Amino acid sequence: SELLNVSQVFAGTEDKPILHGVDLSVGEGECHVLMGPNGAGKSTLGHVIMGDPTYRVTGGSISFNGADLTDASADKRSLAGIFLSYQAPVEVPGVPLYSFLRTICQMRPELKTTARKFRQRVGEIADQLDLDQSFLMRELNVGFSGGEKKKIEMLQLLLLRPKLAILDETDSGLDVDALGVVSRGIEAYRKECDGALIVITHNTRILERLEVDRTHVMVKGHMVAEGPASLISDIDANGFERFEREAAEKG
Ligand code: ADP
Ligand code: MG
Ligand code: MG
Repeated sequence: SELLNVSQVFAGTEDKPILHGVDLSVGEGECHVLMGPNGAGKSTLGHVIMGDPTYRVTGGSISFNGADLTDASADKRSLAGIFLSYQAPVEVPGVPLYSFLRTICQMRPELKTTARKFRQRVGEIADQLDLDQSFLMRELNVGFSGGEKKKIEMLQLLLLRPKLAILDETDSGLDVDALGVVSRGIEAYRKECDGALIVITHNTRILERLEVDRTHVMVKGHMVAEGPASLISDIDANGFERFEREAAEKG
């Protein structure tokens, strides 16, 4: 059944409209890929679904799990089961990542647990991701690299077990190590959490191992195409030119 329904959403910043009537529908447990040239509005859509107050929704609606969340806070959406990529941990000198993750879990009734069980669960996830345990003791105030942020993101994803994860992949190259963690994390999330996924990416190496249900293409704040997984290899071979031309012709 339907999990997320974005209907005719118009949104932007205070002085710049970015999304012009966007529709996106995701069923429970489905895997969707969102593609489009730079500046199309993909990341903005992710943030708008998450309720980032940087963007104002001026039209349309967003419903999730049967509830209208168009005006809900990001906190409320997070509790409802929506997860967006890497949310920067606050910089707290001397506080290790491990304690930060523990705090997030203790704030959620369904995840609250004993220190021992938490340690066990985090250990399992680190093993699963092939992540060195010492990484968990890294301090939150020490600047994380892009690859390290991805690792924290995957730890959070597997700990929080959201109903919908929106993963906005940076176009900048991740090293092989980080790519491996991302692939393993997504695979574990799909297998164990049975959650839905929206992957925003150009990185076909991550997509290779995913069973994609639906692909969406955005150009200039509009959804311009939707199709099966094969649309990804089509775009891989031919780029976005066709979609950009069609969008220009439509005006
Ligand atoms: P994509 O993720 O597809 O590359 P973005 O959603 O990042 O596209 O950006 C879409 C457009 O909106 C771009 O022109 C970008 O500069 C602009 N934009 C996004 N976020 C902001 C913001 N916070 N302030 C001003 N402009 C923004
Ligand atoms: Mg961009
Ligand atoms: Mg982006």
